[in-house]
Amino acid sequence: MRALRFHGVKDLRVEDVPAPGEAGPDDVVLQTAWCGICGTDLHEYMAGPIFIPTTTDPFTGARAPQILGHEFSGKVLAVGRNVTSVKPGDRVAIQPLVAPPDVFYARRGMGQLSARLGMVGLNWPWGGFGEQAIVREANVAKLPDEVSDEQGAMIEPAAVVVHAVDKGKVQAGSTVLITGAGPIGALAALAASAAGATRIIVSETNPLRREKIRELGVVDDVVDPQAAGTQRRIAGQTEAGQGVDVAIECVGHAAALGSCIENVRKRGTIVQVGLSVGPGMVDISMLVTKDITLEGSWCYPLTLWPRTISLVASGKMPVERILSDRVGLDEAVGGGFDVLTRPGADKLKILVSASA
Ligand SMILES: [Zn+2]
Repeated sequence: MRALRFHGVKDLRVEDVPAPGEAGPDDVVLQTAWCGICGTDLHEYMAGPIFIPTTTDPFTGARAPQILGHEFSGKVLAVGRNVTSVKPGDRVAIQPLVAPPDVFYARRGMGQLSARLGMVGLNWPWGGFGEQAIVREANVAKLPDEVSDEQGAMIEPAAVVVHAVDKGKVQAGSTVLITGAGPIGALAALAASAAGATRIIVSETNPLRREKIRELGVVDDVVDPQAAGTQRRIAGQTEAGQGVDVAIECVGHAAALGSCIENVRKRGTIVQVGLSVGPGMVDISMLVTKDITLEGSWCYPLTLWPRTISLVASGKMPVERILSDRVGLDEAVGGGFDVLTRPGADKLKILVSASA
């Protein structure tokens, strides 16, 4: 079968690799449908290997060259004898995290925090940019007819922001600031809207992305954080000019976190979703004197798939609005990775099909 594999920095190759063999007792063999290119994949492409194992991963057995792709949908081809939740022919979305069952966090239902966490498409022998893949039964969730294969490939990043909105305690009538109008910021706006937020303001430095984010249809205002008077403009849209109830930081930069500290009201909540590439400085005193709650938000609980799928199926979270392009495996690098890493890119989500 054909697959896109990571060999090193700026070295992704479409290659022939052996197809999966028989399903083990707890395994599901899939034909992949669509797989999104994620910021994590771009980091591996530009500066990897970061999460990709260069020696054999003792838990998953994976090692570079690694098949990438962890945001995907597919169709079940075969199941092992212990598998009961899906059968051949079922359409599924893949929950890519695999936690060893024997560690502190996994025993407490928080396997996503395990230090030995495995992730399909990063440190697992299979990934979504291959024609077929093997995952465990716990990694597949059946898709209802209302959810397309394209939407199914966006359940994973959608779950990231549903968790962030949960951690921010966004509720009916909340005012929410989102910093960063990339794919995660755009999905966060959709999730905040689905959770009942009535005023959603997005802050973004890239003018092309500021234009794009308006097309989502759920954003009330889009601001340039570097423009004069931005803080006043945001405060003016909140109750008694006190600032937003919740800020969701999707950039991964200290300046963006700093703007969340400035724009959230006293006793408000900031959820940090974006991963930072380096340390930075924020106004700690303002964080303290405004009595702000600061939450980190990592991945999602492994049980979040049914809720996220129902948000998409009901139409309350139209994830397809962030879709910019669909390409085949041969165009994945030139029409996907290279497009998304170009400075000032205005594309949001690009989906790749290894099977098309
Ligand atoms: Zn991702």
